[in-house]
Amino acid sequence: MVTKPKVQALDVEKIRQDFPIFQRTVRGKRLVYLDSAATSHKPKSVIDAEREFYERFNANVHRGAYLIAEEATAAYEAAREKVAKFVNAPCKECIVFTRGTTEAINLVAYSWGWANLKEGDEILLTEMEHHSNIVPWQLIAERTGAKIKVVPITDDGLLDIDAFDRLLTERVKIVAVTHVSNVLGTINPVQEICCKAHEVGAVVLVDGAQAAPHLPVDVQAIGCDFYALSGHKMCGPTGSGALYGRKELLEAMPPFLGGGEMIRTVTFERTTFNDVPYKFEAGTPAIAQAIGLGAAVDYLTKIGMERIRAHEIELVAYALERLQEVDDITIYGAALPEQRGGVIAFNIGDIHPHDLATFLDAHGICIRAGHHCAQPLMRRLNVAATARASFYLYNTPDEVDALVEALHQAVKFFGR
Ligand code: PLP
Repeated sequence: MVTKPKVQALDVEKIRQDFPIFQRTVRGKRLVYLDSAATSHKPKSVIDAEREFYERFNANVHRGAYLIAEEATAAYEAAREKVAKFVNAPCKECIVFTRGTTEAINLVAYSWGWANLKEGDEILLTEMEHHSNIVPWQLIAERTGAKIKVVPITDDGLLDIDAFDRLLTERVKIVAVTHVSNVLGTINPVQEICCKAHEVGAVVLVDGAQAAPHLPVDVQAIGCDFYALSGHKMCGPTGSGALYGRKELLEAMPPFLGGGEMIRTVTFERTTFNDVPYKFEAGTPAIAQAIGLGAAVDYLTKIGMERIRAHEIELVAYALERLQEVDDITIYGAALPEQRGGVIAFNIGDIHPHDLATFLDAHGICIRAGHHCAQPLMRRLNVAATARASFYLYNTPDEVDALVEALHQAVKFFGR
């Protein structure tokens, strides 16, 4: 019998009061939200920060010569500073606001990739990448003639470091690796990867979509060249995200999108570009969203990323044990909670994950089912799809119990 952890790392009941969505019910039941890997909920402070922008100082940034435009610019740039501090970037100019991880990776693929890759070069990816860290590289490989190589995973869901060592030759110009897998939950040794990649002269992009919301991130300690994150997965608004890049790399890179804001002078013959990060922020940016992301960073920082991580380890450990009680369950990924982030992917016999998700929905439980934008990984796991429960700072052991109880019922319902 598994003992239920008393959640000590965080006062979850208090935290839940910060999230207005938990006041609602779904299908007459308490909302059990286990899909934060897809998108997290937003605390009131984030919702209020966006509302305050629109209600009190809605104006475009970096242009207006009047008070509310100055206030908008100050709030937007303060948000950049907060994100920089959150990932321990050495300067705020190293942070480019993007719509999320996908756009951040595309920015690097198109801008850095276009300028630096050529035929014979290699782009090293891993078998556990999300499509957003595969497809942009394929598009740029097609245009430049560079080749994609893939580091496999081991049977226990970890990155095969021996294979990485073998594949990492001087032909590799960029390694693009997820910090935390959105399916297996695996936390990759990104510091070691960066160190080894730099020895052969390659740069490293870390996809932090599933890490930045859940663990303390220090881009200088990791030693990465680029780090991408999504605001909406870390309590911030949709349409918010950021790319960290080493300043000298960003400065040497050509622009990604052209338009207003990113220029210094324009004539029909020639355009000169703005300094970083503005060179990469063409057009009116997502101002309210960036300010909301700043508020999300404040919120997470106040709670403490170490405590959030400790809470998730506790919860995942409990969930991994309790899920073993379910008949015919297969859980994917590492056995130890310390090796994984807050996601647990699983299948139960031959019940289709979509059927499971629909069954759980009737109990007010939200999980994800599908290929999780990781079709190559699904192929490696030899499945078409999985169910996935993902946890965050507002989840409780009671919700794990609710999930396990509903899964027992699903097994009976589907006659397994
Ligand atoms: N990378 C990983 C590991 C993810 O889990 C996700 C989203 O689920 C992404 C990238 C893409 O993030 P976004 O859709 O916010 O751009």
